[in-house]
Amino acid sequence: MEFEPVIGLEVHAQLLTNSKIFCGCSTKFGAPPNSHTCPVCLGMPGVLPVLNRIVVEYAIKMALAVNCTINPLSEWARKNYFYPDLPKGYQITQYAYPLAEHGWVEIETNGETKRIGIARIHMEEDAGKLIHDEKIPVSYVDMNRAGVPLIEIVSEPEIRSPEEGADYLRRLHEILVYLEICDGNMEEGSFRCDANVSLRPKGQESFGTRTELKNMNSFRNVQRALEYEIKRQKYILENGGRVVQETRLWDDAEGATFPMRGKEEAHDYRYFPDPDLPPLVVSSRWVEDIGRTLPELPSEKRKRFIRNYGIPPYDAEVLTSSRALADYFEAVAARCGKSKAASNWVMGDIMGHLKEDKLEMNECPVAAESLGDLIKLIEDGTISGKMAKEVFEEMWRSGKEPAVIIKEKGMEQITDPSALEKVIDDILAAHPTQVEQYKGGKEKVFGFFVGQVMKATKGQANPTMVNDILKEKLGAL
Ligand code: ADP
Ligand code: MG
Ligand code: ZN
Repeated sequence: MEFEPVIGLEVHAQLLTNSKIFCGCSTKFGAPPNSHTCPVCLGMPGVLPVLNRIVVEYAIKMALAVNCTINPLSEWARKNYFYPDLPKGYQITQYAYPLAEHGWVEIETNGETKRIGIARIHMEEDAGKLIHDEKIPVSYVDMNRAGVPLIEIVSEPEIRSPEEGADYLRRLHEILVYLEICDGNMEEGSFRCDANVSLRPKGQESFGTRTELKNMNSFRNVQRALEYEIKRQKYILENGGRVVQETRLWDDAEGATFPMRGKEEAHDYRYFPDPDLPPLVVSSRWVEDIGRTLPELPSEKRKRFIRNYGIPPYDAEVLTSSRALADYFEAVAARCGKSKAASNWVMGDIMGHLKEDKLEMNECPVAAESLGDLIKLIEDGTISGKMAKEVFEEMWRSGKEPAVIIKEKGMEQITDPSALEKVIDDILAAHPTQVEQYKGGKEKVFGFFVGQVMKATKGQANPTMVNDILKEKLGAL
């Protein structure tokens, strides 16, 4: 029997606001433990939460970017459980009435575009962080993260393979970073994913029993965990067993998932509306205003790059991987008017050098305009492509303009016909044997003459002109 995987992903993204969701404490990462706390986020008796407007604004941004409907009325709920990182004994989240629903994102699968539905997006607060001492049986708690705003993005169970799952995550991640509402750092936990997966016989409508996978901290690990879990469930089903509904933890070192808690221990969170917070009312006017501030999204940008610059889809994909990179490419292309050359230089030389020197795009020592000028100097024959690489190295090191470097190094191509003719005449006169060979039909000797001219001019002769003049002279002999 052939089985088909059914996958649904739940993503938690930390929002880049200055202050927490229900108090004025800073959200800055890396502060001394418990220094960003107050009676509200510590859950002291008698305090009241006050909603941070920017959190709602950012959540609406994301919801619009992934084509959701924004609910004019949504509700805050208490999710009750006991754990030392949760000072109030409940997490404020949204449950029965979330902020946004019914969206979708496009992914690529086997060269085709597929829509993955987004069931809902809601806002909630993060919990604190437990730090366990390895040497002594003591645990510490840091409440700096308690009350930091999150959005949870829940997909429909429409993902059909681990690759599709990883691509879906990359798309969401890319959009969040483009919107500048999340830093997307998976290792620091700003972007976390839980994966739900089940198998069903191919052709069957209803879903099988699912497991929920946690603790994957990279796209690759999400994909590996799903691959492992699909194999594990397949083995059980093929041997007449039943999959147990449970939460499983991915162990990176083992490359396997292990049970965390079963159904019997499953929490009953006793959700109920939070009496401290009024229902959230979002006007259509506010949604429209936010909609107008959305930047061009990566998928739109990719399509425009292919259409307007005529570059291959692969180039468009790479160049739109961040807004800064895309802007840089556009400035280079605008300056030189040669999109494919601009794309090659940016994807090759610029990205390669940035990676090598561990620099971000905004730290690039070569201005887009200067790179555009360098490309123009190749196109108009002032320097050869090979020389341009040398000039580029110098631009990277010194930040000097290409024209200045070419002048300083005396690198201009020789394009003066009379100067080239003189060199060629001398070379032909110095190599009578080779001239005879050429005249006798050995056309390969042509390359030898070109090489001699280049050697004599230290590579500065314009190659096209050398070819033309040589052909003419040899033909006339
Ligand atoms: P819960 O209330 O347990 O969080 P939800 O209905 O909210 O469950 O679903 C959580 C995630 O699990 C969603 O992304 C959904 O698409 C996915 N999901 C639900 N049922 C299945 C299933 N049978 N197999 C795989 N994924 C599923
Ligand atoms: Mg859920
Ligand atoms: Zn606080």
